[in-house]
Amino acid sequence: MKYLQLVLICLFLFATENTYCQNNEVNIETTKLSNNVYMLVGQGGNIGVSAGDDGVFIIDDQFARLTPKIIEAIKAISDKPFQFLVNTHYHGDHTGGNENMTKQGVKIIAHENVRKRLIDGESSKEALPIITFNDRVNVHMNGEDVKVYHVEHAHTDGDALLYFTKSNVLHTGDTYFKSRYPFIDLKSGGSIDGYINAVKKGLSLVNDNTKIIPGHGAVSNKAEYASFLVMLENLKANVQAEIDKGKTEDEVAANGAITKQYDDLDYGSGFINSERIRRTIYQSLKH
Ligand SMILES: [Zn+2]
Repeated sequence: MKYLQLVLICLFLFATENTYCQNNEVNIETTKLSNNVYMLVGQGGNIGVSAGDDGVFIIDDQFARLTPKIIEAIKAISDKPFQFLVNTHYHGDHTGGNENMTKQGVKIIAHENVRKRLIDGESSKEALPIITFNDRVNVHMNGEDVKVYHVEHAHTDGDALLYFTKSNVLHTGDTYFKSRYPFIDLKSGGSIDGYINAVKKGLSLVNDNTKIIPGHGAVSNKAEYASFLVMLENLKANVQAEIDKGKTEDEVAANGAITKQYDDLDYGSGFINSERIRRTIYQSLKH
């Protein structure tokens, strides 16, 4: 099992052009986005950090083996105590450090399906969110309100978007892969329609000055986020047109014309290639 996990992680990293599997070296890079909000990039989902007088508030925690480096990076920002951590969803590259972070004193907050899926995955008690919500929750810390919204059946069935109202920063979790085809985890309750709705929800929260932390990829902005929505809507319409013509999944998978416009822009160069996104959208629409 451990070996399989490692192989899968390495495949994933290979797809995301990460070199961990070659040299075991991961550095955590910190980018300041506002007075008190930071983005940390290591390996796996992007981490958000709010640090201020009330303490440290963290969004997602990548993999357990990276926890010491993540803690070091956060301590370089702030010497205040770790207070809360929100999981944007249950995937291991966003929750793998949960148990370690609980030992640092955080209380983990997440949608109730995140807790359910972590329990199903036999996570330890320390790795579980102890505060769960089903629609939305607000965190009032470091001089601003952080609004946490659940979006239904998007990347999974437990996704959350977080908007820092004063800092004007949005963390999308994996409902946004910058300039790449997204992973829509149909087996965990994700869907193309829910995914599109999640991006619309996110777009309704932001303005031209918002800094957007995508689940994967570099810091983004409203214009790029809006073009990502157009991409999803175009692909959905293209796949639906094939379905309406009576095409099978394999025919859609083999039809590069459906995604060509975005393949040419390298959208298929990440974790999800162009055939995989065509299959995913087909399966989701036929479901
Ligand atoms: Zn994910």
